[in-house]
Amino acid sequence: MKGVKAHISVVIPLFNEEGNITVLYTALIPVLEKVSPDYEIVFVDDGSKDRSFELVSQICQQNSKVLGISLSRNFGHQIALTAGMEHASGEVVITMDADMQHPPEIILELYNMYKQGYDIVNTIRLETADSSAFKKITSKYFYKLINNLSDIHIQPASADFRLMNRKTVDAFLKLKEKDRFTRGIISWMGFKQAQVEYVAPVRFSGKSKYSFLKMFRFAVDGITSFSAKPLRISFYAGLIVSFVGLLYAIYAVVEYFKGNTSPGWASTLVSILIIGGIQLISIGIIGEYLARVFNEAKNRPLYFVKQYTSKQADTINA
Ligand code: UDP
Ligand code: MG
Repeated sequence: MKGVKAHISVVIPLFNEEGNITVLYTALIPVLEKVSPDYEIVFVDDGSKDRSFELVSQICQQNSKVLGISLSRNFGHQIALTAGMEHASGEVVITMDADMQHPPEIILELYNMYKQGYDIVNTIRLETADSSAFKKITSKYFYKLINNLSDIHIQPASADFRLMNRKTVDAFLKLKEKDRFTRGIISWMGFKQAQVEYVAPVRFSGKSKYSFLKMFRFAVDGITSFSAKPLRISFYAGLIVSFVGLLYAIYAVVEYFKGNTSPGWASTLVSILIIGGIQLISIGIIGEYLARVFNEAKNRPLYFVKQYTSKQADTINA
């Protein structure tokens, strides 16, 4: 991490966003100029296969306030965000998506709240023009589930579009956990937080990088990072099923002595299926937590930087 140099830094993770970079950059500059001429933009290329980094390099040639970092491969949105924050030098740091779904002009509102004394300003998506009914419903229930299961509260429809001051960025970077669920970490951190609402327009170019499977992974990460309740629930479910099983066993023995025993394959099958299912789910839940422990125990760096945009490379490596 560098000492504070810029007043405001904007961190933007990129994964195959060649169609959005120029539009975003053009829209961002007048907004940042309004806030402070002392701005900085940190583009983090998260292993793009397209011309994203090339475009960023071109922008850097024209504007020395722009820094490009290319990660050695695709590490995922959350890690790319952390990488960007580690390289941001601003007194104020803003994170936003590259696809124009986080409207640049909202930065003025975020900054305004910062001026009013807030340490962290989060955003809440009022509606996403292009999100499917399925995404809306799964998102709604995900937040219900995580808020019921964990001790932290995460505002539904929150986005990784946020402003943080230097104090909270430094605090965030002290949290070294490998599976990074930024929204959860921010909520857990505390400090003086505010919220700003915005309407997310459709993605300008390209497709969403969050497939259903990735979203599911993200949800499991979120829940297992902030709650041990699934472990307990599987234990209680095990207890309940064992108790019912015991009652059924007593009933079976009584029936046996009464001489009423019959083949009864249906009941056997059903109980095997139910118990088998619960066992597998419970093992799976333990596996999720074990995988997290495994990840932490390996203690690998979160990411590697392959390349910086040429101009800045000297200052960073110095
Ligand atoms: N992103 C990234 N690495 C990934 C996936 C996404 O850096 O592995 C970036 C992406 O380029 C975008 C932001 O994270 O700037 C959010 O992704 P996206 O717009 O696909 O998510 P959605 O808005 O659909 O939830
Ligand atoms: Mg998007």
